[in-house]
Amino acid sequence: MGTYRQTVVDLDASPEEAVAWGDRGREWLEAEGLIRPVPWQDGVVQLAGPRWREAVDLVPPDWRARIKELEEEPCGELRVVAGRTVLLAGMGRVPDPICPRCQSATSTWSGEVIDTWYTTGAADLGCPACARRVPLPDWDWTRDYFAFAYLGFEFDDWPPLDPHFTAAFGKVLGHRIRVLAGKW
Ligand SMILES: [Zn+2]
Repeated sequence: MGTYRQTVVDLDASPEEAVAWGDRGREWLEAEGLIRPVPWQDGVVQLAGPRWREAVDLVPPDWRARIKELEEEPCGELRVVAGRTVLLAGMGRVPDPICPRCQSATSTWSGEVIDTWYTTGAADLGCPACARRVPLPDWDWTRDYFAFAYLGFEFDDWPPLDPHFTAAFGKVLGHRIRVLAGKW
């Protein structure tokens, strides 16, 4: 089966503020009743809270027949990832980057730029169409697959997150967000 992971990525948190912003996001989710801390082994895990349904899109029309199963609380946890991270939307075909300056997609790029960004925190990708070099995190992708960032909130095996929830969460963080979703 694998894990269906949705990651709400904070695109703007700096390396210095990632941990504090991660705490801020987690505290808000808990205050809203969307997650609850549960002691587990030597630490604490964040499981679905009493109002978890308010964060998800529970009833797309073709799911109504199965609503009983969907009422069950998601068993996966919420993890906060703070620190320089290449965040991905699961496994699968890697999409092409789209230049944020001229909106051209290119298939002629090398994944080495990702290693460079991960190692040093800075890497530019050159656009074959307009010849400009643009920092890797600023590129768009032919589907939301990558985020090169310092803070992410991973929801494992939750139903699809409601866009109203993710927009509200972004407002609380005060930063741009990107939502990545996929199977692992
Ligand atoms: Zn370009």
